[in-house]
Amino acid sequence: MDQQRAIIITGASRGLGFELLDLLVAADARPIALGRRLDPRHAAASARNACVFVAADLSALGSLDQIDLAGALPQTTDEIVLISNAGSVEPIGTLGVINSASLAAAFAVNALAPAILARKLLAAADSRRTRLRILNISTGAARRPLPGLAAYCASKAAAIMMFDCLATERSDVAVEHIDPGVLDTDMQSMLRSADDQALPVRQMFASFETEAKLKPPRDVARDILTRAGLL
Ligand code: NDP
Repeated sequence: MDQQRAIIITGASRGLGFELLDLLVAADARPIALGRRLDPRHAAASARNACVFVAADLSALGSLDQIDLAGALPQTTDEIVLISNAGSVEPIGTLGVINSASLAAAFAVNALAPAILARKLLAAADSRRTRLRILNISTGAARRPLPGLAAYCASKAAAIMMFDCLATERSDVAVEHIDPGVLDTDMQSMLRSADDQALPVRQMFASFETEAKLKPPRDVARDILTRAGLL
């Protein structure tokens, strides 16, 4: 018999998350998209019950405790899968220049909100006597310091450690970190168009485009889902 899964994807409005959601909708997996907004194509899918949308701003940590994520999950499921994909590369700038609020916001979106969501889903998994699996969409930048990207590098590194600690606390929780490589999305175009002073390695990001190294997010999304056995 096919497994019944509840799959939650964060940040599905565009980029890699859009493609992950789109492929899962097409596969009739009835995914749950959590984020600030939904692309109109998926709003239409949600209207015909092909996916579920849960509105949440991951930078507003206080409001995350209020969202009814458990209510969006089916009562019976063999597995709850969190695809922690939402991410923010801002603030771009050297540490001496970026402001404290934007630094805190990066940690909220990239590390703290994913931990809060994992905690909520763990409670939902426990009450349903099912297991939780986390696919953390990570980055090479979480393991490699880059000038101008301290907030991004450090907050993405924090997410890895947060989930790894959870995995040591709960042997039944499966955690996987996935580095998707460089993608042709808004995030890369923001990096390419940054100020050279703010991002001393801007040229490296520009070269990803000129040397045709950017991968189509659709292909990467399909690969991630196939490898994870979700397609
Ligand atoms: P995009 O910038 O294209 O999309 C980011 C997504 O995250 C959007 O759906 C955005 O929603 C959502 N998001 C950002 N801030 C918030 C917030 N406060 N609340 C809710 N949702 C939010 O990014 P990519 O698709 O390129 O990146 C996806 C993942 O892949 C990220 O985790 C990134 O770190 C990782 N990655 C990307 C690489 C690349 O080359 N692009 C390389 C390596 C890793 P909204 O539309 O509302 O802003």
